[in-house]
Amino acid sequence: MAKTIENLEIEYQLAPTKKQKPNPNELGFGRIFTDHMFMMDYTEGIGWHDPRILPYQPITLDPSAKVLHYGQTVFEGLKAYLSQDDKILLFRPEKNMQRMNRSNDRMCIPPIDEKFALEALKSLLRVEKDWIPKAEGTSLYIRPFIISTEPFLGISPSISYHFMITLSPVGAYYKEGINPVKIAVEGEFVRAVKGGTGDAKTGGNYAASLKAQIAAKNRGYSEVLWLDGREKKYIEEVGSMNVFFKIGGEVVTPALNGSILDGITRNSIIELLKYWNVPVVERQISLEEVIQAYNDGKLEEAFGTGTAAVISPIGEFAWEGKKMIINDGKTGDLSKKLYDTLTGIQTGELPDPFGWRV
Ligand code: PMP
Repeated sequence: MAKTIENLEIEYQLAPTKKQKPNPNELGFGRIFTDHMFMMDYTEGIGWHDPRILPYQPITLDPSAKVLHYGQTVFEGLKAYLSQDDKILLFRPEKNMQRMNRSNDRMCIPPIDEKFALEALKSLLRVEKDWIPKAEGTSLYIRPFIISTEPFLGISPSISYHFMITLSPVGAYYKEGINPVKIAVEGEFVRAVKGGTGDAKTGGNYAASLKAQIAAKNRGYSEVLWLDGREKKYIEEVGSMNVFFKIGGEVVTPALNGSILDGITRNSIIELLKYWNVPVVERQISLEEVIQAYNDGKLEEAFGTGTAAVISPIGEFAWEGKKMIINDGKTGDLSKKLYDTLTGIQTGELPDPFGWRV
């Protein structure tokens, strides 16, 4: 009889020795990993099986494993915090599991049991609790991901997979306070197209974005502003963040259209603005419209949103040799208020009227 996920028990293989914890003041992003990881396997005909928490370690893959050739893979990213009274806090983690299954569907990867995956994550976090850094702005970054492992060069969905969760203590994104970034509008490359994989969190999207990102960095810009893949006219995202503009008192963000990632921070910002009665709309918005608003003196703020930075204010856009400086290159009041409120809810320092913390 095939085992169902509900009657699976997580096996614990604990590390005999523990690594030394890093200095919380010297944490960067994503280079240090904790003592343990979670892993389970998928086999066609059996389903997901053998969930286990084991010492963090390299994995063995056949050189012909599908993920290495055709990129059949998905990932997620979220953070855990430690509250003042020492409780582990997660921010809307069920949304990450739901999104992972939407990505799975797009990439022909079998779905995970979202409830079980969340329980597995919580079990891993309980084992690794003392890895959650406490210093202001720090957190434990969580990376759930699935890779296809079948050793077969045929282009077809794999019949076997690994689902893993690794944890990485990360430093404060803003060391000297929330800081605006400079953004280059990308006129040549595109990140995603409608009908493609832009709304899935899959490795290839990020590999495809590197060339534009490097070119922007070489010109002194932090990230690129992605335009739509067909007409290069409409605004989609900024780097690997969603993007918002405050124009004449109204907040506008590109509507989800199939090529934009449905960000959990984006969704939370929209909910928060509605709660505050700040006008907010999701609609198609062109670069031309933003330039016009700037020329009319109506472009008040612009910011990116995502798990890593939460809010990333945009101080400058550059396109075709021209520039616009937003809000004198300073962080806008709304950007700051959104950042303070959202991080306050995430870390347990502010009340959570939405029930987002678990
Ligand atoms: N867009 C892209 C392409 C991303 O990779 C991310 C990061 N997951 C986001 C937007 C922001 O999503 P979230 O708020 O869920 O982190």
